[in-house]
Amino acid sequence: MTSWLFPPPPTPSLPIVGTRDRFPVRRILCVGQNYAAHAREMGSDPSRPAPFFFSKPADALVVEGVDPTYPAATADLHHEVELVCAVGEGGGIVGWAVGCDLTRRDLQAAAKAAGRPWDAAKGFDQSAPCGGLTLGALPDPAAAIRLEVNGVARQTGRLDDMIWSPTEILAKAGELWSLRAGDLIFTGTPEGVGPLLAGDRVVATIDGLSPLAFTVRPR
Ligand code: MN
Repeated sequence: MTSWLFPPPPTPSLPIVGTRDRFPVRRILCVGQNYAAHAREMGSDPSRPAPFFFSKPADALVVEGVDPTYPAATADLHHEVELVCAVGEGGGIVGWAVGCDLTRRDLQAAAKAAGRPWDAAKGFDQSAPCGGLTLGALPDPAAAIRLEVNGVARQTGRLDDMIWSPTEILAKAGELWSLRAGDLIFTGTPEGVGPLLAGDRVVATIDGLSPLAFTVRPR
């Protein structure tokens, strides 16, 4: 009689470094163009007055140890290494991780040209690889942030190159949404974004945080 019913899907979660606990993920917000050099490489003015946001579904999360599959409908998948902030009870940042904002750049360019939303370019399946969560204060606010593909450096920057700090991003996001425990915020990427191919090995690091590594699986 109720054969259409199904169990609720599992809650995506991140491992918490140094514990057996997991951080349940409620929502993923992302900041666009938060490093001046990347804003310039995307053809924008880095002196823009306020950060802007887009989102990915929570189930786009890919945890460490899982290899994402090269997505459908693109011929230009890009990597974007990012510092990820985790929101705890009370609405503050309780932890940090290394993330990769995978982007279908060709679909994003088409959406920008048409003035349309970015969902298909940014919020697709397995678009949010993220390493383990380190609790506490950010180990080093000036830490290096890097991404290499097949052992070759592609992105290199420093967290203090951000236009908007994590605290400022949290405040701005809080004006737009009720932030709750379980929310993740991807805080933007430094310059050097570029294409990934099936078989590529990606290693993303931020000094003091658990690294993120994955191989892009062929479709
Ligand atoms: Mn990004």
